[in-house]
Amino acid sequence: MTMDLNFACTMCGDCCHNLRLPLSVNEAICWLERGGDVQVFCEAMPWAVEPSTDDGPVQHRRNRSFAAESGELAIRVMVTVVAAFDGACPHLQPDMRCGAYEARPNVCRIYPAEINPFIEVMPIHKACPTEAWTIDKPSLIKGGQIVDSITADLIRNSREAAIHDVPVKERLCGNAGFHTASLANEGFITHTLPPRAMLDELYKALKPASSATQAVSWRILSNRRTTVDTLNSVGARSEMHTALSPTEGYIPLFEAN
Ligand code: SF4
Ligand code: SF4
Repeated sequence: MTMDLNFACTMCGDCCHNLRLPLSVNEAICWLERGGDVQVFCEAMPWAVEPSTDDGPVQHRRNRSFAAESGELAIRVMVTVVAAFDGACPHLQPDMRCGAYEARPNVCRIYPAEINPFIEVMPIHKACPTEAWTIDKPSLIKGGQIVDSITADLIRNSREAAIHDVPVKERLCGNAGFHTASLANEGFITHTLPPRAMLDELYKALKPASSATQAVSWRILSNRRTTVDTLNSVGARSEMHTALSPTEGYIPLFEAN
């Protein structure tokens, strides 16, 4: 059962550092036009059979991914476009206020609530200090529902944008040659381009006519030998994470083996 939570931002600024902020495609264009940097994260899920429509978490992933192949293996690819920065966000001001307040991404407006309906808000997993969650603060979640209607609307809009953006992201990968992914839940493959080139690719991907229709075989990289061997045994095209191109990176979620 979801716990009730009270919350008020203390303006500590801790949630504005060292981030990979998930963005909609339109937000990514805005972020780049304001001088920021954007990366593209790709994850692959083996998808041999269609899951039950009753399986909410799997349908959630299905709705946010597109069909593809890795060798002979059917997969679905989840693409996340992120604002990337190490240290303080380029928009964070010395007094910890957001210098792009009116244009800040939805994920900044929604935090510390969650966009994914299958992830429970857990204060222990958030950057906010203990005093932000005390009982005297306004109600954030009650009876499993977000109390503030503006935040609830933002979450709904973000979920809709994630589904709407899927074909745009598929074209982005096709046009830009992003055809390497991690195995979902093991890590992320990152694709990097100079900001101007990334902006051009995003604009191009917005146009349906730019669609690159030829079939490509995705590579699935992993830092785990057992994963690579298992994927190759079922016909996938898998290699160790060291087989990266110069514009690719690997962010592991687990130790290598
Ligand atoms: S855009 Fe604003 S709210 Fe979002 S991380 Fe940057 S400084 Fe923080
Ligand atoms: S970490 Fe939490 S309390 Fe601190 S600025 Fe971000 S949202 Fe506010």
